[in-house]
Order: sequence, then C-alpha cells, then structure tokens
Amino acid sequence: LEAEIAAGRKLAEAASIIGGKAGGGTPRPVLSPIDGSPVGTVTEAGAEAASAAMAAAAAGFHAWDRTDVTVRAAALDKAAGLMEARRGMLLALLQDEGGKTLDDALAELREAVDFCRYYAAQARKIFGPGEHMPGPTGEDNILRHRGRGVFVCISPWNFPLAIFLGQVAAALAAGNAVVAKPAEQTPLIAHAAVKILHEAGVPTSALHLVLGDGRTGAALTGHAAVAGVAFTGSTETAWAINRSLAAKNAAIVPLIAETGGINAMVVDATALPEQVADDVVTSAFRSAGQRCSALRLLCVQEDVADKVVAMIKGAAEELKLGDPRQPATHVGPVIDAEAKAGLEAHIAVMKGAARTHLAMAAPAQGTFVGPHIFEIARVEDLTREVFGPVLHVVRWKAGRLAPLLDAVAATGYGLTLGVHTRIEATLAAVAERMAVGNIYVNRNMIGAVVGTQPFGGVGLSGTGPKAGGPNYLKRFAAEQVIA
Ligand code: ADP
Repeated sequence: LEAEIAAGRKLAEAASIIGGKAGGGTPRPVLSPIDGSPVGTVTEAGAEAASAAMAAAAAGFHAWDRTDVTVRAAALDKAAGLMEARRGMLLALLQDEGGKTLDDALAELREAVDFCRYYAAQARKIFGPGEHMPGPTGEDNILRHRGRGVFVCISPWNFPLAIFLGQVAAALAAGNAVVAKPAEQTPLIAHAAVKILHEAGVPTSALHLVLGDGRTGAALTGHAAVAGVAFTGSTETAWAINRSLAAKNAAIVPLIAETGGINAMVVDATALPEQVADDVVTSAFRSAGQRCSALRLLCVQEDVADKVVAMIKGAAEELKLGDPRQPATHVGPVIDAEAKAGLEAHIAVMKGAARTHLAMAAPAQGTFVGPHIFEIARVEDLTREVFGPVLHVVRWKAGRLAPLLDAVAATGYGLTLGVHTRIEATLAAVAERMAVGNIYVNRNMIGAVVGTQPFGGVGLSGTGPKAGGPNYLKRFAAEQVIA
C-alpha cells in the first residue's frame, strides 16, 4: 500500500470543469497542512464561471433525467471501481491535501466507494419505472420519481472525498444535473473525483465542477436555475444559503443541510472507565477533532469524574502528533492557518476561564494544534462548535441527569450523543429525551458506525434525511403522480 501511495503522489492540477472543459482563472498553489509543501495548483473560477456552469447544467438536465436509472446507477458503480483501482492517487491526496492519517484516509476512501455503490443500488430500487397505485375506479395510476433539475452540491474540507462524492452521487442517482463546489481548502481531490465520474460514464453535460470560495458558492445558490441544494458545513453558511434561496422569489427550493454539533457524551458511575477513556480519546482527538460527529462536551457523573478524567488524560498523552504519513501518527494537522488561529484563540480564552487538564504541545511546522482538555462549570459555558482537538468536561451530580440533558438540548444542536452506562433505564431516558440524529451506546462516536447507516442531525445540526440512509435519495427527487 505504501508503494501504491508513493506511486500515486504527484503534483496535481485542478480547474473548474464546465461542460467538460477546463475553466479559467488565476492559478494558485495548494499547500499541504502537514508542512506547507506544494501539493498542486488550483485555478479558481469567478462568478461568471458559476453562472456558466448553472446554464450548462440546466441544458444537460433533461437528457440525464431521461437516462434509464440502470444506466445512471451503472456509472456510479463503475466510479466506485475506478476509485478502488486508483486508491494510491486518492490516498496520497487525502493525506497531502487533507492532512489525514492513513487510517482516516483509508476509511474515507472506503466510505466514498460505499456511497457510490449504495446509492446506485438504492436508485435502482426507488427510481425505476414507478409504483402502480389504484385510481378512483380501480384503474392503474402511477407514482414515480424524477430529478428536480440542477442540484448545487456544496461541501466542506473535512471529508473532501466522502462528503463531496456522497452529495454528488446522490444527486446524480436521482436524475439531477449537478454543479458541485468543494471547499476551497481541498479542490484537488474533488477534481480527481469528478474526472473519475466522467470517465465512469456520467456525461460532462450532467456534472460540472466549480472551484472557488464562499462567494462562488453564494453565486451558485443565488442562481435562478437552482432546483435544490445539498450542503455540508457550518450552521452560519446553512442560514446564509436558506436566506438566499428564500429571497429568490421563484421556485421553492429544498435545502438538504448537514451542519455542526456540540456532541456530548454522558458518562455515569456505572460506566467502565477504561472503555470510556479509550472511546473519549478516539471521539475527541482522532482526525484532530475535525469530524462533525467529534465529541466536544464530556458530561461525567461527579462520583467518578476525577478517576475518569485522569484516565482520559493518561490515554491522550500517549497520542503521537505529527506527520500523518508516518504510520505511528495518531493526530495530524488541522486544515489551515485560519483553523489553527481560531482554535488557539479559543484555547487562550479557556485557559483563563476553565481548569486545564491537558495542554499538549504541537509541532511548530505545519498547522498543528495539540489536544486540550478543559473543565467548565456549566454546559452553558460551551456555546458553539469548536472544530478541533479540544475537549470540554463538565461534572453532573447523581439524580441530576434530566437537567443536564435539558442543558445539552438547549444548545440547539442535535447531531450526535454518546452514552456510557450499564443501566438500561439511563439509556432509555437519554434516548427518549434527546432529539439528536445519532446516539452511540458504550462505544466511540465517529460518524456512521457502519458505512451505510444513516448519519446526520436535527435543529442547528441539519435538516435530515440523513446521508447514507435509505431515505436520503428521495429528497433529491420530485414525486410525480400520473392518475
Ligand atoms: P467550514 O467552517 O467547514 O469551512 P463553511 O460553511 O464555511 O464551513 O464552508 C463549507 C462550504 O460552504 C465551503 O465549500 C464554502 O466555500 C461554502 N460556503 C461558504 N460560504 C458560503 C455561502 N455564503 N454560500 C454558499 N456556500 C458557501
């Protein structure tokens, strides 16, 4: 595998792809978060390119929507196979551009491949010739699904292949034309993925790539041709997209949003401390905490808090920070200097306001942030998602589980929640009271526990239906009844 990755590692070039042609712009280097070395060159498009891509997608929509679903699905299956065959190149990009450890890169590639195959299989089931339904006189009526039109897919850098491809594959499977805009931090891997989809048989008229930052994203979601938006990123951006869709005064356009979370874990006195320590370290610090699902707020019952925190600290101190291309590394860099500065500012505030349990140093080169653990007095002291390796601990008293849960719920986020307990009633109470998307019981909390289980949240964390789930594809399609 190492040899395959080494062979796949070469300077990459990416530009927008509109109607199969490379878009223009001014090239800039893409630098690795690991050490600032060049990974490739990206040419970003401006607002005109966004508009050209939307027009080209609108022109390509009907042909793709009328393409038999088995043909659409076959293209996704073929893309999955091509990704497996070219894993050296994709893994190298996930590591160099995304800063991922080999374990994380492999898991992400697997997830991207699974999304393609799963959505292909789902599409064959859901988007066939239609379902027969009896009409008023018993005659044969039909319910079928069609693409909505041009779907804009906007994705983040933290899963630059799996989330990017998951959105695009779902939208394409349902018969939409797609304009995809990946995060500005990770254009190279998105470009590689689009090339693979085109090679696998997705027409260049049905799938377009537009590279650029948030302004380019806004130009796409604000375009008159948009028929749907799939978005994963910050809650603030989801609000901005919602506002822009609402202001259009035209078609009522659905937004499928997956945003952030505060992701609490509740630990009671019956939990197994060794397992808790292991799961907390994995959930809070793996991927440098840059997962939507990552644990940010650990709620430990007071009676066991000192012991549990000491064990977590001990386990965290074993983590090796550094170059994620080294097999021994557990924690790689955060994505860029801006992310690092934001985390350092939060850490500085916490150092003044909270008790510090752990403050690990980070390598000076690259954009690293060492794992930190702070103890805060109340759940309310953590008001926003802190997207990095920073864990906040709060204690709760026996008999006060309900108010604790209410305080967690009051944050408004509803993505993930962990529970460590050996009491069935505690688990039932937590699951009943908490409107979160994914609950993890006596295990770590990282994404979907099996590739094709649904993942996603509610409230400030997103709209549902969940990515990877059996209901996801339907949101990308329009139902049509022929009676
Ligand atoms: P993150 O904090 O993960 O970078 P963002 O929400 O800023 O989250 O970014 C996620 C994606 O949304 C990126 O592709 C980014 O370019 C895009 N984006 C940012 N602002 C806007 C906007 N106003 N409209 C559309 N897309 C945007």
